[in-house]
Amino acid sequence: MGHPMFTYDTELGEAIFAYCRERLTMDPVPLDYGSLQDVAVNGLEGLISQEGHDPESILKFFKEQLATAVVSIDSPRFLAFIPNAPTKSSLLFDMVVACSGLNGTSWLESAGVVVAENQALEYLASRIGLPEGAGGCFVSGGSIGNLSALTVGRDVGRSRHPDLAPHTLRFAISGDAHSSVGSALHVLGIEPLLIEPDDHRLTLENLRAALAADPHPETVIGVVATCGTTNAGIVDDLEGLGSFCRENNLWFHVDGAYGGAAMFSTSEKERVAGLRHADSFIVDPHKWLYAPLDCAALIYRDPRLARAVHTQKAGYLDILHETHDEEFDWNPSDFAIHLSRRARGLPFWFSLVTEGIGNYESAVQTSIDAAHRAAARIEELDHVEMVRPVSLSVVLFRRKGWTAEQYNEWSYQLLRDQVAFVTPTKWEGETIARFAFLHPDTTDEMVEEILASMRD
Ligand SMILES: *Cc1c(COP(=O)(O)O)cnc(C)c1O
Repeated sequence: MGHPMFTYDTELGEAIFAYCRERLTMDPVPLDYGSLQDVAVNGLEGLISQEGHDPESILKFFKEQLATAVVSIDSPRFLAFIPNAPTKSSLLFDMVVACSGLNGTSWLESAGVVVAENQALEYLASRIGLPEGAGGCFVSGGSIGNLSALTVGRDVGRSRHPDLAPHTLRFAISGDAHSSVGSALHVLGIEPLLIEPDDHRLTLENLRAALAADPHPETVIGVVATCGTTNAGIVDDLEGLGSFCRENNLWFHVDGAYGGAAMFSTSEKERVAGLRHADSFIVDPHKWLYAPLDCAALIYRDPRLARAVHTQKAGYLDILHETHDEEFDWNPSDFAIHLSRRARGLPFWFSLVTEGIGNYESAVQTSIDAAHRAAARIEELDHVEMVRPVSLSVVLFRRKGWTAEQYNEWSYQLLRDQVAFVTPTKWEGETIARFAFLHPDTTDEMVEEILASMRD
């Protein structure tokens, strides 16, 4: 007999599998309530105890009291922030990853995982036109992806400019870059050359003008562009900025956490063609590529540069790096700010391989088309109006005459009524409404219901 904690409890196993089956087969999943539901904090009291508790009663408590106080991000009625709608096959395979305790840290421990994750990364890299040899790893999210990539860009910039004081080096970023880019530069101790773009889209002309007006343009070592801003879905001038960076030996990082997925669309393919210039690129499969949280793909044009920066060195780790062939000994831990990691890319890999690319292409396009139909409907109605044209799958619109408080109250009421989760945003100082389409099962009827709720 082994230790009791490591003995399989058949009854608990059956209860958990039954719960997972129930959840997986819900169609649609209930939206649920988030903070609107009173969280049963009393029920938590004394749960951590010397003796432990009956697992089935705790599962029941979780299911009835805790799970209902979480808005289901995979509901087709979730149109706030950026939703997350994992495919059923990715969710099922996430269970396989969990139950196998699947480690994805190093080639030595996890070659079987690494080759599969790399197949998915190589597919994404080739899809955006990066050369053979491009690669990286899966990280927890876009934020850590941006930080890891910009760390490499910074170090490469330093090595190109031994003549300049390291603390003077800068990245050019747009005022519309994601907050995580600002956080990354803060962590790195790097000042941005902050550019306020024309109409929220960073262009080559904006960059040129900013460099020309700056007293020290030589300290700019790279440019961060966004492929699909989170708030508005705007794609920067990737072609212009990217080719300029290539010609001028600047690091070109593209944050495509949300909108990088447009590489799968038919209508937006051209708009994202400039991704091929990226020195580093991120896209979150846990956003618009239908993988479970937490999964971001981080890809470098030349991964050797990243390995030189991120490989952690310690006596006990030497064996990971002293073996065989550099080309094959691919340690995911060497390409980002992390070491131990679960094989978080595998649910995405399994789904990509089993569902086929055609399904990804049609799902991504479905959201873009739904956004355009919603915009057309908004144009028809009197009480609402578009704030700007649709970009990718984001719709920014206004309820004529509403104050910020009215948007907030309406948003809470929609959630209370379980109609939808739609949160307001700020645009040029004004509070407005925003849809982010992502779940392919969001219907025009749902949109109609939401727009009708804004009438009074
Ligand atoms: C969501 C997002 C991020 C941050 O990604 P996380 O996975 O939430 O850390 C960064 N950039 C953009 C453009 C995003 O939309």
